[in-house]
Amino acid sequence: MRVRFWGTRGSIATPGPGTNHFGGNTSCVELTTANGDLLIFDCGTGAHPLAAELMAQGKKNISANILLGHTHWDHIQGFPFFSPAFVKGNSVAIYGPEGSRGSLHDMLAGQMEYSYFPVALDQLPAAISYHDLTEGIYSIGGARVATQFLNHPAMTVGYRVEADGVATVYLVDHEPFSDELWRAGDEPGHIESILHEGDRRHAQFMADADLVIHDAQYTPEEYASKKTWGHSAYDYVVQIASAAGVRRLALTHHDPSHNDDFVADIERKARTLALKLGRGLDVFCAYEGCELVLEASSALKPFVAPAFQASVAERRFHILAVDDQPDTLTMIVRALEQEQYIVSQATSGRAALQMIDAHIPDLVVLDYKMSGMDGLAVVKTLRAKPETQSLPVLMLTGMTDESSTRAGFEAGVTDYVTKPFSIPQLTARVRACLARAQPT
Ligand SMILES: [Zn+2]
Ligand SMILES: [Zn+2]
Repeated sequence: MRVRFWGTRGSIATPGPGTNHFGGNTSCVELTTANGDLLIFDCGTGAHPLAAELMAQGKKNISANILLGHTHWDHIQGFPFFSPAFVKGNSVAIYGPEGSRGSLHDMLAGQMEYSYFPVALDQLPAAISYHDLTEGIYSIGGARVATQFLNHPAMTVGYRVEADGVATVYLVDHEPFSDELWRAGDEPGHIESILHEGDRRHAQFMADADLVIHDAQYTPEEYASKKTWGHSAYDYVVQIASAAGVRRLALTHHDPSHNDDFVADIERKARTLALKLGRGLDVFCAYEGCELVLEASSALKPFVAPAFQASVAERRFHILAVDDQPDTLTMIVRALEQEQYIVSQATSGRAALQMIDAHIPDLVVLDYKMSGMDGLAVVKTLRAKPETQSLPVLMLTGMTDESSTRAGFEAGVTDYVTKPFSIPQLTARVRACLARAQPT
């Protein structure tokens, strides 16, 4: 398997003398299997030089598989300049997460409306197919590809590509689910010691990979003021990859305000941390033109996915929102209604339980701290009854400390979202909870 980086920058392209080494193009990584199957992670501006290279090779009938993590601009802006799509006889299969608003095709067509670009998506001469993905295992271009939702203010999937006895995992864009990575009292550095269910699932997804390509836009100091923006600091990434037994880690999605010296400094610090953790993790900051040839070194451990792969695009879900703060409740209800959910609301734990008794919703969005019966007591009551034992509950809370997070999961919450949160972050987490709860 061969991996080549064509775009390593996050957010916006930043060409110029200060970014000559690590590069100014936005996210795009080429993966070629031994059979010659072409998989492309993201289609930021790096897709333009990649496309030029593919065309220069003079190959007839190019067949490309584009795996989009999500449809923020820095991951799709290169697509209208992906020249193989302008040649009849070529084929382009585009994969991406099932969006909360419209299909993958509709979102890509949006950036190619005539107001923004002179050629409409449906006019492209190549045979283009669109594949909306949820979580599961797929076969793409001869490779086994697993997908898992990431924590980002948009529906975003990470990809794990297994081929040639090698696993490469692409996790861009993503931020930690929790401020605290480790459960108090457990030995840090092991997947089982991870506090938040989401971070643990994230570690399991990359476990034993030969190469992980991960968002590491910030330093830990910067991250403190950029929570909910959907990006990671390098220390989280190094710790989680180390615990997951990853062999090689490429930090990418470099912040547009970071010049080469700054990114090199991140690389030094990340390497020092990896050395200190002592698990043999080889970490570096990805740069444009960087090419890796990955050979199978030991038996590949295929990712075993939990059994869910249901599409939630066509269904209208019923959500119960519970909060004793009227302003917060109104904000949550409005946000969910905009996503076309059927929403009911309650202002106390007792009222919520009565409503659930009368009609079980598909999901409960529940405030932790409420006067009277708090969220924790509501979850415990639900879990004690067979009919609501597995009802998904997304807990919203200002309590980010280890013991509150732990108490939430021990009581049986499905997901634990800390305040302040952004609306797109909340709706993405709601969508992931619903997708996971659906029978296949
Ligand atoms: Zn991005
Ligand atoms: Zn993004």
